[in-house]
Amino acid sequence: MQVYWSETQLAHVDARFLQLGRLVASPERPERGEFIFSELHRRNHVITVPEDLGVDHILKVHSPGYIEFLQTIYAQWIGTYGKCSPLIPNVLSDAPPHPRLKSLIGRLGGYAGDLACEIAEGTWTASYTSAQCALNAARFTLQTGNPAYALCRPPGHHAGASNAMGFCYLNNSAIATQLLRKKFSRVAIIDVDVHHGNGTQTIFYDRNDVFTGSMHSDPCDFYPFFSGYQAETGTGKGIGFNSNICYSKGSSDKEFLEAFAQLIQRTHSFKPQALVVALGLDALGSDPHGEHNVSLKAYLKLAEQLKRFGLPTVIVQEGGYISNELPLAVAKFLEVFDH
Ligand SMILES: [Zn+2]
Repeated sequence: MQVYWSETQLAHVDARFLQLGRLVASPERPERGEFIFSELHRRNHVITVPEDLGVDHILKVHSPGYIEFLQTIYAQWIGTYGKCSPLIPNVLSDAPPHPRLKSLIGRLGGYAGDLACEIAEGTWTASYTSAQCALNAARFTLQTGNPAYALCRPPGHHAGASNAMGFCYLNNSAIATQLLRKKFSRVAIIDVDVHHGNGTQTIFYDRNDVFTGSMHSDPCDFYPFFSGYQAETGTGKGIGFNSNICYSKGSSDKEFLEAFAQLIQRTHSFKPQALVVALGLDALGSDPHGEHNVSLKAYLKLAEQLKRFGLPTVIVQEGGYISNELPLAVAKFLEVFDH
C-alpha cells in the first residue's frame, strides 16, 4: 500500500484532556503514529514523506480565521502570558468568534468545540503535516486509481470548519475528499470510527456531491453526545446525503457488522465514484479508550467489503489508541486492499 507519513507529525505533544473533572494525558500520543509507522515499515509498505501541497486545499474546508488562529495562537499566547503548558480554554462558544474579538482567551474558546483539543507549540505543524498526508494520498489515488493510506496524526473527523474538538484540529478526511472532487463528481466518506464523525458531517451537511456516512456507538451514551443521531440526514440540497448508523455501547462483532451492512447499502445507493474511508480502530476490544468489543476479524470483513466497491479509495487514519493490536490491525486492514 502507498502510505504517507512524516515525523513532523510527532510535534504535537503533551496534550491533556478533561476527563471526569480531571486533566489527564490525552491518549492521542505521538507514539500512536510511530508504532503504526514501524509496523508498516517492517511489512514493506511503501512509505513516503508527503509533499507540501500548500494551505489552499485546507482553506477549501476550513475558514481563514480558524487557520490563522491555529497558526498563530501559541506564539501570541507565549508573547502575552509567558511560557506555559498546552493551551486549554476556560470559555466555550457554539459559534465562531466575532470578527472584532481580540482577546486570546476568547479566541481560544471560540475556536474550541470541547476541552479535548489543547494547543501546544507543535500543534499547527503536526496538524498541517497530517493534512498534507491526506492530500498526498488523495492526489495519488486521483492520479493512479489505486488505494492510498494517510497515517494522519493528529486525527481529523471531529474538527469542523471553524473548530477543533476531540483531539482533532484539521479534518483530514474532508480535505482529502475535497481534492478528490476535482476529478470525481460523487465522493462517499465512510467513517467506521467508534465515535461519530461530527466535524465531517457539519462540513458537508448541505451538499449533495459528498455522501457522509458514519457508523458509531449511539451518542445517547457515548462521545460526542450532541450529534450522530439517525434523524440527522442533511439540510437543503444535502437532505438524504448524510447517514448515521448507531450501535449500542459495548457492542461486539454482530452489532458492528450489522451497522456496517446498513452503511454499505446506503453508500451504494449514492453511486459514488470514489471512497474516503475514515478509519478509526477504536471499536477494537483491545483499545484502551473505546469501550467496545469488536475483533480485528470484523474490521477485516469491513475492508473486504470496502474493497468490493472496486472504486478509487483513500484511507485516512482517525482514532485507535495504543495497544499491542493497533499497529497490526492497521497493517492487516490495508493489506486486504493489496491482495
Ligand atoms: Zn474515535
